[in-house]
Amino acid sequence: MSGLYAGRTAVVATMHGKEKAIGPSFCSRLGMTTLVPEMFDTDLLGTFTGEIPRFGSMEDAVIAKARAAIRITGHALSIASEGSYGPHPQIPFIAAGIELMVFVDDERGIVIKESLIDEAPVFAHVTARDGEDISAFLAQVGFPDHALIASPNKPGLIRPRFHKGLNTKGALTAAMASSCAESTDGRVLVQTDMRAHMNPTRMQALEKLAGRLVERIACTCPSCRSPGFGVVGVEKGLPCEYCGGPSVLVRQDILGCVNCAHKETRARKDGMTTAEQRFCTECNP
Ligand SMILES: [Zn+2]
Ligand SMILES: [Zn+2]
Repeated sequence: MSGLYAGRTAVVATMHGKEKAIGPSFCSRLGMTTLVPEMFDTDLLGTFTGEIPRFGSMEDAVIAKARAAIRITGHALSIASEGSYGPHPQIPFIAAGIELMVFVDDERGIVIKESLIDEAPVFAHVTARDGEDISAFLAQVGFPDHALIASPNKPGLIRPRFHKGLNTKGALTAAMASSCAESTDGRVLVQTDMRAHMNPTRMQALEKLAGRLVERIACTCPSCRSPGFGVVGVEKGLPCEYCGGPSVLVRQDILGCVNCAHKETRARKDGMTTAEQRFCTECNP
């Protein structure tokens, strides 16, 4: 356990139960307590369904959220996270999620961030007519453990109504019927509710991410002793096993500090020192 933050309290900027995923790591690894501000409406900072657009980049949004919690509570330490779900950045037709989590320390004036790509999120949607059988979709998304959102598929001019947090068959059926009635094409859009407390798979991803974030916080800079020293980038060009030329694989990690300009390089964690010839830019251009 790192003593830097032992006994300190951090506010978790959430109203979606994320403290359940975040709190345990901060407690066991750093000896911290977490608390949730009362009446903290994170939806004002942007919603998944896009009724309220997020401002700036994902990183801007998550830091703004953490700072809002600091302003409201007067605590100097805060944790916030943001998720973004859509097509996988590298693999077509696969859904993926990017989760970003930050720890803001206003006393030291630092922001420590960590991110994670969720390769197997429960994130999907379907459109249907009133009364249509969507049981295959429901099985696929793990309903009712994972809740759903229903809204008119083609809302027309009226502002669409989003029925959120649907986790019973009855509520879903009623929301589907009223959404179909309000849609110009008579269809409903049913999608997974990605708010953390509605999506246990996302909650697991946040738990994993919190574990990584506390490790980064616990690591101090060899130069200025600030917490939050860790990998900030990679250097490619792992030598080819055949000709020694640069390959497309990562040669070493670049570690950096959130407080000073100190940088270090570190050999690959897996101990690999050469690349197979097929990754070589000289032998296999
Ligand atoms: Zn080569
Ligand atoms: Zn430093």
